[in-house]
Amino acid sequence: MTSDPAVLEQLRAMQEHDVPVRGGRTLAYVYDSGLADADEIGRAAVAAYAGANGLDPTAFPSLLTMENELVGFACDLLDAPESTVGTVTSGGTESVLLAVQTARDAHPQIERPRMVLPATAHAAFHKAAHYFGVEPVVVPVAEDHRAHPDRMASAIDDRTVLVVASAPSYAHGVVDPVTSVAAAAAARGVRCHVDACIGGWVLPYATRLGRPVPAWTFAVDGVTSISVDLHKYAYAPKGTSILLHRAPELRRPQFFASARWPGYTMLNSTMQSTKSGGPLAGAWAVVRQIGDAGYLELNRRMLAGVDALVAAIDRIDALHTVARPDSTLVVFGTDDSCDVFTLTDLLSRAGWYVQPQLSFAGEPPTIHLSVSPATQVDAFVGALRDAVAEAVRVGPAQVSPDIAEFVRALDAATLTDEDFAGLLAAVGMDGDGGLPESMATVNALLDIAAPALREALLTAYLDRLARPVRRRHTVEP
Ligand SMILES: *Cc1c(COP(=O)(O)O)cnc(C)c1O
Repeated sequence: MTSDPAVLEQLRAMQEHDVPVRGGRTLAYVYDSGLADADEIGRAAVAAYAGANGLDPTAFPSLLTMENELVGFACDLLDAPESTVGTVTSGGTESVLLAVQTARDAHPQIERPRMVLPATAHAAFHKAAHYFGVEPVVVPVAEDHRAHPDRMASAIDDRTVLVVASAPSYAHGVVDPVTSVAAAAAARGVRCHVDACIGGWVLPYATRLGRPVPAWTFAVDGVTSISVDLHKYAYAPKGTSILLHRAPELRRPQFFASARWPGYTMLNSTMQSTKSGGPLAGAWAVVRQIGDAGYLELNRRMLAGVDALVAAIDRIDALHTVARPDSTLVVFGTDDSCDVFTLTDLLSRAGWYVQPQLSFAGEPPTIHLSVSPATQVDAFVGALRDAVAEAVRVGPAQVSPDIAEFVRALDAATLTDEDFAGLLAAVGMDGDGGLPESMATVNALLDIAAPALREALLTAYLDRLARPVRRRHTVEP
């Protein structure tokens, strides 16, 4: 049987409706080095290892070698002592889940374990709380959006198994005061995890380039684990992150073995058991291809782009940056003349994908930009200026007063399918069940909903989207 080129053509045609992963115009979800050779090598490595199984390192020793080399690279980058060990996982969320599970299982005697999170910690920690029954103690951050050291310290108690800091936080792009947070954790004998999923491959280079970065790596006493994603700023194909522990005994509860069945003894370092060798090989190849000197140069260019972007945003009348970025995440807000959600839609119509962040805890909505080396900063600034002028002209996305009142009266816990159908109709999404053309109204509506209701509405929406396509695939005998 030869391969049917029509199948691949079909894939490419479908892909045209996705946001582009290359070209520097997608400012969330994708991280583009702009290096065609690194991309190609990564993809070829994924393909070469797509069928290899990371379940058993004795059967696929090359996968073990690649994993240990990647972990070694991360150790060098993050000032890790000789004792440090690590694991390649499928992504930031899995690294965070495992950090929480490991901290919990290190203390089986604590019946109702807790973890102390700054309010800006990534949602992956809430997922971990949900999966593993570790109660999140959410601590309000300081005015500058960074974790508040004293509040964090006083939130630690006898049930605390983990204290968390971000380097940097996703929503504001600033690094928490890791030195004082980790010291407070260490003083109580509690683990401290630094979530550097998005900054871990950037900040060490920013430091080497002479930029002011607060200390946050294993050089800080009390930091016991760090997560850093390879599929973000290491520019690896999607599907890899690293979780490092300061010493092997800290990692031990992460490993799972089961001999309680008649088959092979299951022995896993991550949540997956059978796992494709593709992402690991892809990451190994890209890190190998770009190398330390390559990352340094990419960061030099990218951080210059960040500076230019921040200056340009602050020169646009209706806009202001929310914080001076510590790395590559630029977050900005608007004044009353310019609606965030209208602006987001106008940019996406102009071919720029940016990520709106809903209002939260009394803070107004903002726009998140993950800058990459490939980001076309000058062209984006031009598009942003035009879009702001247009957004000011057309005014905010409107939610009619009666719909607003209906939304405010909805109870997330008792949301019915009928309520949800009513809302979809109200925002013009009751058609064929596809994705909405304009997101501004949808976002404006979500923005007035409380967090629990946002969750319930989006879950109901996903439930509608995720339905099988039935085409009678089976062949008649
Ligand atoms: C992206 C990110 C995560 C989650 O990573 P995924 O790869 O999306 O699962 C966790 N923490 C931070 C700070 C992140 O930026």
